[in-house]
Amino acid sequence: MIIECACKKYKFAVKAEEIGINGRVVQCGVCDQKWFQEPASSEEFKVLRENHIKEEEEKKVKAKNQKPIKEKSSKNYIPIKYENKSKTNYNKIFLTILVISIIGIAFSFENREYILSKNPELADFFILLEEFVEYLKKYYSDIIEVFIPQKK
Ligand SMILES: [Zn+2]
Repeated sequence: MIIECACKKYKFAVKAEEIGINGRVVQCGVCDQKWFQEPASSEEFKVLRENHIKEEEEKKVKAKNQKPIKEKSSKNYIPIKYENKSKTNYNKIFLTILVISIIGIAFSFENREYILSKNPELADFFILLEEFVEYLKKYYSDIIEVFIPQKK
């Protein structure tokens, strides 16, 4: 609706809803005069309200249409995610093989007497394995010494 300032010099376009059905006090943004603005006619208010509802619905539709664009832009990051996933899977596979190997070696080491009684040709393997375990113990104790030098 169009309202006119009390100074009669300026006219302003305002939403009928802002004035409301009971009217309200408004202030001129140019001359600072205040006056009581009568409400828009009920017919005018109805039309403006319907237009306002239409505008809100259009905004909602626009917002919905904008969503796929956002999804598309986020899809650009998916290849990076896949890279991370494949790295994680590689680490998991490596860790799984490592754990199975350790369990397998530990198991065969624990039961080496039984395995040797069945397969005497594996004696060399267990000697190597024992040497390897000793090497690992020494290697890791060296690392611990490097990381905790104040204990010396
Ligand atoms: Zn004014």
